[in-house]
Amino acid sequence: MAESGFDRRLLLKGGLTVTAAGTLGLFGSTPASASPKVAAPRVYTTAEWNARPATGAIVVENHKPTYIVVHHTVSPGNVEDYSLDHALQISRDIQDFHMDTRGWIDTGQQFTNSRGGFVTEGRHRSWEILRGGTRHVQGANVGNHNSECIGIENEGLYSTVDVTQALWDSLVQLIAYIADQYGITPEFIKGHRDFNSTECPGQVLYNRLPELRTAVGQVLGIAAVERAEWPLLKPGDTGPKVLTAQRLLRDQGAKVPTDGVFGKSTKDAVAALAASRGVTPHACYATSQTDETGFLGADIWPLITTSARTSLDWKSLLAHT
Ligand SMILES: [Zn+2]
Repeated sequence: MAESGFDRRLLLKGGLTVTAAGTLGLFGSTPASASPKVAAPRVYTTAEWNARPATGAIVVENHKPTYIVVHHTVSPGNVEDYSLDHALQISRDIQDFHMDTRGWIDTGQQFTNSRGGFVTEGRHRSWEILRGGTRHVQGANVGNHNSECIGIENEGLYSTVDVTQALWDSLVQLIAYIADQYGITPEFIKGHRDFNSTECPGQVLYNRLPELRTAVGQVLGIAAVERAEWPLLKPGDTGPKVLTAQRLLRDQGAKVPTDGVFGKSTKDAVAALAASRGVTPHACYATSQTDETGFLGADIWPLITTSARTSLDWKSLLAHT
């Protein structure tokens, strides 16, 4: 490698002994992993997809992200254009939507993964900062958690259908690389709904997160651990979890039935509670708007599970009902 040779000459010129530690130090930017296990994926940068400049300063936080968060773009239809050109085009479309409709300074997510398996940089500087392995580009993709989360938008709508194999493979590789760069273990790979009351990343893709953690763990040589998460309940749902939610809402004074059916009064009660507690819908939809008012998820459960049980107790209780 040319760079190593160059550094070695410098070291010898300085009369120093070349040691592993000395060489590392001279490289300056200390790599996150002394011996990366994962090859860097091909990421098409903002320059390569001809991004518009950001309209504000990109915030680079002086710490690593804690969570790697999986999203879906909810693009209309799951298109069958698997080309690189298409991947670059959706990167521009998402940026336009986030800047012009959402009013954000730039693309919200750090990375975008196409159905053809092409990965592009989202927010400016995300790739450069990830490669450094020590800092975090603050995005806009997980409400109230953007300082902790690095997010990947996966092109498509995965509520009832599965991702393409190409998308899956590139997602595993990208997440494994991010995890390796930052020293993040597989249990910290999450879905958007693990933070906000949203359908994202779609039920089908969400159901595959344990498999994703296992696949990433295999790349890294780390066993994946599963932890209970808050369930997402939405209008039309029925069953014991809905009944539990209704009882908890009644404890808060809401006038809802205890029939285990997530009907209009339950939806209205959740929406009213969310509004009164300042929890706004955080759907990150890239190219469409869907009403998720009254969805009961990760940012609502802590407001109603106020009994003596801990959050962890509640999560495991709900996971088994
Ligand atoms: Zn999302």
